[in-house]
Amino acid sequence: MQTIVIPASHIQRRSSASPHPEAPRRTQPRPWHTLEVILKITERCNIACTYCYFFNMDDNAAGNPVYMDGGTAQDVVAFLAKAVRDSGASALQIDIHGGEPLLMKKDRFEQMCRAMREGLGFVEQLRIALQTNAMLVDDEWIDLFERFDISVAVSLDGPAEYHDLFRLDHGGKGTHAQVVAGLRKLQAAAAAKRIYAIGTICVPHYSFDARRVLSHFVDDLGQRLLHISLPVPGSSPDHFGPDGGAGYTRFLCDLFTAWAEREDPSIEIRLFQTLLGRLLGGQEGLAQGKARRGGYTAFTIQSDGQLCGPDDDRLADYAFQAAVQARADTSLDDFYDTPEMLRYVQSQGERSPVCQSCCWGHVCEGGDVLGGRAYRFVPGQGHANPSAYCQGLQELLVLMTQWALGRGVPMARIEEVLVTG
Ligand code: SF4
Ligand code: SF4
Repeated sequence: MQTIVIPASHIQRRSSASPHPEAPRRTQPRPWHTLEVILKITERCNIACTYCYFFNMDDNAAGNPVYMDGGTAQDVVAFLAKAVRDSGASALQIDIHGGEPLLMKKDRFEQMCRAMREGLGFVEQLRIALQTNAMLVDDEWIDLFERFDISVAVSLDGPAEYHDLFRLDHGGKGTHAQVVAGLRKLQAAAAAKRIYAIGTICVPHYSFDARRVLSHFVDDLGQRLLHISLPVPGSSPDHFGPDGGAGYTRFLCDLFTAWAEREDPSIEIRLFQTLLGRLLGGQEGLAQGKARRGGYTAFTIQSDGQLCGPDDDRLADYAFQAAVQARADTSLDDFYDTPEMLRYVQSQGERSPVCQSCCWGHVCEGGDVLGGRAYRFVPGQGHANPSAYCQGLQELLVLMTQWALGRGVPMARIEEVLVTG
């Protein structure tokens, strides 16, 4: 969640005035096949990461209930059931988020998960995932993950000398040792086939040595699933250095080189796999990816049951004012038909002239390949900007193309994607 584009002082808080005078209107039906909901069951955290967009950049988090209560959870389940039925979606992913979700009392968490599994059991593909800092993981939590078939991802930024720079407890102390202790418990449960393989999410600093980071995850910790989440512009001035997002160019390229040298397909780094899939899949691969993304939507439900835009897009003030409450009689269209969400959805297709003429445009999609459009949002300008990480993405794609050519992939196959899309 982050170019450098955007000094922290330029980040605006939500305001009641829309930056766009004309309210957009819905132009297409919504044939969604996949719904993803970021469910904020806890809006407080047991630690205080310096780059946390949720607590540093959104003035709403502090005013919401600390925990989602049982009545709200029931309403959310009823709303999601209606949303799946109305939209005809075959897949629903519920991402249990915080703050730190494990701050919730276990009996309340259990009731909530039971309500989800019972009320949404008809969904063709129902996946429940949970994002945690792992510091509170114990055997009872693992039992709950096993019983309710919950996949878990742990936030960890690398070895202690890196992680402990930014992921601090409320007393200012590093949290690496406690996180790794929690991760080890989860890994043991996964090794025993009680729960899914554990994912890890790393928010790097531009100064990190990418080889050291990869080696920590793979060699020290035995991790195989790694997601790189670049910091959201404006979430922490510490993370952007003198060149802004350009500082991450070296990190991304070094990480790719280190990963490629291992030639170990069991090590999954989502960003690299997505980019390579688009580059090497030809038109067919690109078309399949577009079809998947075209029928997919994501939104957040806060601890008070209110709907808003996807979590890391909290920079975009118009995405977070849709005062629609998740209830049994609320439809997803009630939410998406609000002027704020119509405007927000419209921003998906907005591209800067630079991106429109960029040779990597079909693969990079204005930087959205990084996982969201927050990276191209500039307060007062909207989303029609190149990604904050444009330079890094361009150099990474050059490196990937050279790597593919070196392994015998015909240039014509890559040109097909770059030229025709
Ligand atoms: S663990 Fe997550 S929610 Fe908590 S402070 Fe860190 S980034 Fe924010
Ligand atoms: S590489 Fe840069 S200019 Fe090209 S599409 Fe991506 S963000 Fe836009």
